[in-house]
Amino acid sequence: MTFDQLNLQEPLLKALKDTGYTNPTPIQEKSIPIVLQQKDLLGCAQTGTGKTAAFAIPVLQLLHSQQPAQRGPRAVRALVLTPTRELAIQIEESFRTYGKYTGLNQMVIFGGVSQGSQVNALRNGVDILIATPGRLLDLLNQGFVNLQHLQLFVLDEADRMLDMGFIHDVKRIIARIPVKRQTLFFSATMPPEIAGLANTILKDPIKVEV
Ligand code: AMP
Repeated sequence: MTFDQLNLQEPLLKALKDTGYTNPTPIQEKSIPIVLQQKDLLGCAQTGTGKTAAFAIPVLQLLHSQQPAQRGPRAVRALVLTPTRELAIQIEESFRTYGKYTGLNQMVIFGGVSQGSQVNALRNGVDILIATPGRLLDLLNQGFVNLQHLQLFVLDEADRMLDMGFIHDVKRIIARIPVKRQTLFFSATMPPEIAGLANTILKDPIKVEV
């Protein structure tokens, strides 16, 4: 299987050519068609399997092919929650790499740094927001982030969110995003609490395991 067989549009294929990747990894091969069909996904995959591109590529294509509903500054249409700053930075880089010909923009927010520049960047408008839960919740509570136009929600490394004590923040964020959305849920393991969360936030998900 090659990326050419996955119904990807030219801007995505061109960016993939630039990376030199020709063949999707198993998680990408299985997940990309499901996401493009706008179905919810439950992905059981570790870091290192190519999981980031498995959600970044189809999310970019969906947003690229749908015009934003509102006029004016871009509103956040996709949100990726991930447990650590390092992962958040890597994910932002992946969106930038695969999305460079789409015209979409992305930004990353995480704690431990001053929020001023993050608040300014948010004001300029962003299509895809990658965040760690604590800082996102802070900015939401202060009214600096609007998630009203969110269409796609990606929860990355859900089991690590639990291990690191972030699960309550994650639930608080989920309570504030639109119910009508597409959700992609990734976890390397499925302890009962994570399976329960998946059950409550996913709608008729398709399960992918690698
Ligand atoms: P991830 O599991 O998302 O952290 O990705 C692991 C590594 O695999 C990253 O360095 C990616 O750049 C790389 N990668 C992702 N997809 C592919 C692919 N289809 N072919 C080769 N390398 C890839």
